[in-house]
Amino acid sequence: MDEKESILIVDDSESTCRTLALILRKKGYETEAAGTGQEAIEKAQGRFFNLALIDLRLPDMEGVELLAPFKEMHPDMAVIMITAYASLETAVWALNEGASAYITKPLNMDEVLAKVRKVFEKQRLVREKRQAEEALRRSVEELKRSNRELNEYTYVIAHDLRTPLRSTTSFSELLLKEYSDKLDETGRDYLKRIRNASMRMAELIKELMVFSKLAEEDEQEELVDLNRLLEEVKRGLEARLMEKRVEIQVEELPEVKAPISKIRQLFKELIGNGLKFNDSTTPKVEVGYEERQSHYVFRVRDNGIGIGEEGQKRIFNLFQRLHTQKEYSGIGVGLAKCRRIVESMGGRIWVDSRPDAGSTFYFTYPKEKTEKTWMPNIKLSDQDFNHLERSINYSTNI
Ligand code: ADP
Repeated sequence: MDEKESILIVDDSESTCRTLALILRKKGYETEAAGTGQEAIEKAQGRFFNLALIDLRLPDMEGVELLAPFKEMHPDMAVIMITAYASLETAVWALNEGASAYITKPLNMDEVLAKVRKVFEKQRLVREKRQAEEALRRSVEELKRSNRELNEYTYVIAHDLRTPLRSTTSFSELLLKEYSDKLDETGRDYLKRIRNASMRMAELIKELMVFSKLAEEDEQEELVDLNRLLEEVKRGLEARLMEKRVEIQVEELPEVKAPISKIRQLFKELIGNGLKFNDSTTPKVEVGYEERQSHYVFRVRDNGIGIGEEGQKRIFNLFQRLHTQKEYSGIGVGLAKCRRIVESMGGRIWVDSRPDAGSTFYFTYPKEKTEKTWMPNIKLSDQDFNHLERSINYSTNI
């Protein structure tokens, strides 16, 4: 239960002090009285009062002169001025000096109580808001900390898994090379499967390590000319896909403040996918954007194989693939990385697609960056492990 609210009454009239104290105490408030400005300062130095009721005219100073020292000692203390001169001017003066309200003499006790209650109500709301903000800040800190830990954990486990995996890969390689003739066809097939599965696992682990590193907010943001960046991405992809006749069209794009390597990775993944999951004789990807009031909406559109409704819900999760390795190669980390990058920049990503009708990936990018609200989902669920397992199994069927 809350402590009693305390009120310091500052008035040289003993009878006013007594009447106010009586009424306020009856309502459950705790009161103390001071007859002069100096006495009021001494009392406030000794303890906190939620509210001071101050007469505008005190024997040793103007009541308003108490506002500054009171605010300095107790920033949360509210003040109501009491004035015998009910002019707008005095009221404005008192309020300008930082008083919460004013009341006029002769005192109407209903008015006094109503104003006191209002001041306390406001104080309570401010207190609650502050507590809620503090609780939220602490939760965000805690989430950030535990996410950081999970990331490190994921990274370390992935890293440590590589050593035994390297043994499996190299010994199965050795067996295949040097003992192949001692095995029958089935034995050789099993061994190949072991080697392929280990190699794929190594690839998955490498990607998982990259993915867990993405959560680190280590990269500085800089002003990025997206036209130049996209030129670079385009050249890289065209060089890689030399055997295919691909077309990448980019409309004039804006400059954004962004961590450059992450935004490069994002466009590279989306455009790369648009060309990879594409059976057209002339795979085509178009990049464009729309400007909204607070953010940009970028789009990467392809004329590829498209994605069914069910698949659209899954593809941004880790290790989710809609195809086998035989159909289209991949690991199932690309779009999860895209989601993580976009969300870390305060945006959101989604896809609009139909099977055989191409896909358009959209992501938003805020013009003004605010406090990052992104809470990466690092934890690998049982489902993630199932996808991981399934991904590895694909390779054994190669
Ligand atoms: P990967 O490319 O390694 O398979 P991604 O996370 O990039 O992994 O994509 C996940 C899955 O989403 C892909 O396996 C594919 O089935 C589907 N997908 C992604 N991009 C496209 C696209 N542009 N068109 C059709 N399907 C896509």
